[in-house]
Parts: sequence; structure tokens; C-alpha cells
Amino acid sequence: MPLFGVEADAGAGVARGVRSAGASVGSVGLAGGAMSGVRPPLPGMCVLASGSSGNCSAVWVGDERDDGSSGASSGDAAGFGGTRLGDSRVGDSLDARRGLVLIDLGLSPRRTRTRLESIGLALELTGSVLITHLDSDHCHPGWCSERPKLPAGCEVFVPRRSRDRAKAMNLNAGRFHSFDGPFRTRIGLEASPILMGHDHHGCAAFRLTTARERAWARANGRGSAGTGIGYATDLGRATPALIAHLREVSVLAIESNYCPTLQLASDRSEALKRRIMGGRGHLSNEECLEAIRAIQPRDHVVLLHLSQECNCPHLVASLHEGADYPLTISSQEEATRWVRWGRAEM
Ligand SMILES: [Zn+2]
Repeated sequence: MPLFGVEADAGAGVARGVRSAGASVGSVGLAGGAMSGVRPPLPGMCVLASGSSGNCSAVWVGDERDDGSSGASSGDAAGFGGTRLGDSRVGDSLDARRGLVLIDLGLSPRRTRTRLESIGLALELTGSVLITHLDSDHCHPGWCSERPKLPAGCEVFVPRRSRDRAKAMNLNAGRFHSFDGPFRTRIGLEASPILMGHDHHGCAAFRLTTARERAWARANGRGSAGTGIGYATDLGRATPALIAHLREVSVLAIESNYCPTLQLASDRSEALKRRIMGGRGHLSNEECLEAIRAIQPRDHVVLLHLSQECNCPHLVASLHEGADYPLTISSQEEATRWVRWGRAEM
């Protein structure tokens, strides 16, 4: 049954290629498949934009509430936002319809709003924001001011290692939480972070699971296989720890930043090339492919952060030809299709 641009196969729980995507080829969907005016399936993700000019993804969890049954909410609430992590009673007093979680704020507030509207969502639905790191392509200066641009009560989470920098930047008028372990958003999305060695401050990759997925896994005596979104960008390297952390997620969103041949042939400085390719920068297309093979995502792969100068979506698509997963390639210019995650029977 076609669901908002994604076909869910009830038997295998596999999201297949999208007929309605503007530039889809077989099971590969390039950006531009988002349908406007409709809310996504539950739960789903859509990359609003990805690349060195700005990264932001939308994760829609709807009005699912925290079931309070997993005790893994050990993140550090820095106290700026006034809510305690994992405390569903706090969520009760807030707008329970705010089922939109944003990963990174790399677009300006105005562009974020416009891009969200292009997929039928309002910025006001944002209940939580997860920041991977504070580079300007992941945290636009427009979100750092005395007057918060996010809806009142929206919780913002930054890696603990970036806390001082976020304070100095005045991110969300200083209202944010920091984390260095698993935490839960008020809507019940559990974020399990792992810190990667990107540049000086590092970058968080996440495994995200909903309360419904966790309840389903418990009821069926399953582990985490086939559940959650893995979100991994600006990685440097795909380490064994990252691979173990994201293994067998339902949907894997991972960077495929550059083609080494195009990178070496570009007129970028040698220092920049070294920074990108030296293990604390970005993943090449081949390193990304290797990581996907090791992680073995169950349902869908979304590629992030393609370099506009040193990569090409068609080249990337050809590298994944014949793969047993549907593929979505994000872009800077337009939102991707919605990608459902989790098993159909959940
Ligand atoms: Zn980046």
C-alpha cells in the first residue's frame, strides 16, 4: 500500500522505491520526492537539506508519548531549559502534538520554516532538536540570539563537549541541555549518542528509537535489530564502535561526502584535502559503502552531506546499484521523500 510516497511491504517491513519521487530511479530516490500538504507516516524521516551549506533533517514521531519503561535517560540536563530529561510528566504539561524532532539546525530559521512547509509541516510542531555538532553548516547563527527562534518550550540537546561553545554562541538564547549518554525527548524518542572524532570538538552520531519500537521489541523478545534510525554525519571514520552502535538499524542515514578522485583533482588547498580525507573530516563514497555493508541496515539507506564540489549524486547512485536496500540521496536544494522506519507490524 503506498504510504505518503513510501511503499511499506507488510511481510518484510521493507520500504521500497517511490513512484512519486521526482527523480527516483528504480529503488533510488534522489531528493525532491517529498509530497507537500500531508503529514508523514508514523514514524518517518525526511532530510530537509544536507551538504556544506546547511544540514537539517526532520523526524516525525507524531503524538506518541513516552511509555516510561526504559530507564536509560541518563543525559545531563544542563538546566537551561527547565525540563528534566526523560520526565514524561513535564511533557504532559506541554503541547503533546509537537511530534517533530529536528536533527541539526544548519539552515537559517526562515529557510527551515520554508523547507518544512514544503513537506506539510510547521516549525511550531517542533518539540525537540538534536545537534550533532556546532559547525555553522549544522548550527546556523540565526538560531543564536537573545530571542529564541524555536517554539517556546522546545528542548535543544547538544553534546556535552560542545556545551561551553553553545553557551558562548548563545544557542537558542542559552536554553539547551547537554548530553554525554542516552537521553529521551519528551515525545518518547530515545537518542543513544556516540561521539565521533570530527575536527576539534567531535560530532555526535545517534541511534534513535521510539517508545512503540522499544515496547514491540520487549513484547516480542527481540533485541534492537530492525529498529530505529541511525544518523551519522561528519564522521571522520566509521569506527568499529560506530558500526556496533548502529548495527542492523531499520533506517541508516550516513554521510557519503566525496569521491576521492574528484577531491584530489579539485583546486582545494592541500591542507583542506588532508583535513577532509585524514580521518577526522568526512567519509568518502567508498568508506560509506563499506560502513553500510558492515552495519547492515534492514530497511532503507539515506545518504547525507554529498559534497557539491567533489561528488555527484549519479556517481553515488551507481556505486549502490544492485544493493538490497532502497536508497535515498539527499541534497542541498530540496527535501527528500519521507522514509518510514520500523516494522510494519509495530
Ligand atoms: Zn558538516
